[in-house]
Amino acid sequence: MKAVKLDGRDCYPSKIVCIGRNYVDHIAELGNEIPKEPVIFLKPNSAISTDIHSCIDGDIHFEGELSFMVRSGELVAVGFGLDLTKRDMQSRLKSKGLPWERAKSFDGAAVFGEFVTFNGDITDLRLELHINEQLAQKGGYDLMMNKPESILGEVKSFLSLEDGDLIMTGTPSGVGPVNIGDSFVGKVFEKDKLIAKAHWVVKEPR
Ligand code: ZN
Repeated sequence: MKAVKLDGRDCYPSKIVCIGRNYVDHIAELGNEIPKEPVIFLKPNSAISTDIHSCIDGDIHFEGELSFMVRSGELVAVGFGLDLTKRDMQSRLKSKGLPWERAKSFDGAAVFGEFVTFNGDITDLRLELHINEQLAQKGGYDLMMNKPESILGEVKSFLSLEDGDLIMTGTPSGVGPVNIGDSFVGKVFEKDKLIAKAHWVVKEPR
C-alpha cells in the first residue's frame, strides 16, 4: 500500500475521492457545462505518489487541489494535492462517454504533500500553486461551488469512507502541462497563514 504523511507519520488511504468541475473558472477553461450535481470519481491507493513524473505517451496536466483526510467520517486534516490527468486521453474518453480511469487513475496520478491536522475554520482555507516561481493556480473554499462539508455528505450518501481516505476538492483555473525539470511548490493557507507546503521537481517518465 502507498502512504501519505500526516503530521510526520505514514498513513494508508484506501482510496481517493475526487471532485470534478468544482470551480466555475476551471469549467470555463475546459469548455465544460456546469454540473447539476457534483462530478465524483475515484483514484485507487496505487495512484498515490510523492513524486511528479512526466509521461511518454502524451501530455500530463497538473490540477492543484485542496485535499482533505477523513477520520471517523470527518475532515480532520488538510494538504496540497495534485490530480494529474492525461488530458488528451481524458478528452477522448469523455467524448465517447467512457470512464476516465486511464486518464486519472494511473500509477502516480495522485501526488500529495504532507497533511496536517486542522482544527481551524475550514472556510479560511485556500491554495496556491507556483511553477518555476510563477503563480499558476489559486483558489479556495470561497470559490468552490460544492463546499468540502457538502462534498463529504454527498460522498457518504453512497460510499463508505475508511480512516485515512482522501478527498480532493477540484481545481481552479490555470491547469497546464507538466514538463521535466519544472519546480512545483504547492501551498495551503489558512487566511494568510501558511499551514502546509510541498515542493517537487518533475522527474523523467517512470
Ligand atoms: Zn481534479
